[in-house]
Amino acid sequence: MQFTKLRLTGFKSFVDPTDLVIADGLTGVVGPNGCGKSNLLEALRWVMGENRAKAMRGAGMEDVIFAGASSRPARNFAEVSLHLDNSDRLAPAGFNEADHIEIVRRITRDAGSAYKTNGKDTRARDVQMLFADASTGAHSPALVRQGQISELINAKPKNRRRILEEAAGISGLYQRRHEAELK
Ligand code: ATP
Ligand code: MG
Repeated sequence: MQFTKLRLTGFKSFVDPTDLVIADGLTGVVGPNGCGKSNLLEALRWVMGENRAKAMRGAGMEDVIFAGASSRPARNFAEVSLHLDNSDRLAPAGFNEADHIEIVRRITRDAGSAYKTNGKDTRARDVQMLFADASTGAHSPALVRQGQISELINAKPKNRRRILEEAAGISGLYQRRHEAELK
């Protein structure tokens, strides 16, 4: 599976629909301070199921919605769509019907978040599991936030272990075991 495109609409500073094409090889994003580079990475985490507002640098999840600027009113919703090339057919069951997967997450003011996969309603948990099984996802150590390296150095062993488990791709198993124990 490979990410091919990220589309942001009304997400943080990206008020108009904006596409980030992720081609083979290295994709660089450059720009002056405050132009939205970190917002792009946050959009990627968010569509993969991040549900901690703090990880989005906000007080509440609705803070990801474009809050308005001097010349533009605030929006009522934010949407991020992530396109995946699944021509290797490595996506887990439930996602593996097509060569191309589009995951959309939308948050509407006072109505919360909803996900769709290729147009069909999808549970947040299933989206999170899709990426956890692929050793990536909202909490993936492959997505390194600004300032995270120093956090990692100062982390308690327990927290560092969680990062290693994400890297090993086994965190999805813990989640399933936890759910099985609750049943
Ligand atoms: P740096 O180089 O300093 O790390 P950056 O390119 O990573 O900068 P970001 O942190 O991604 O920049 O973007 C910050 C900008 O996004 C700020 O101008 C902030 O006002 C804007 N922003 C964040 N949330 C919202 C929102 N909900 N609505 C409108 N603008 C927002
Ligand atoms: Mg930044």
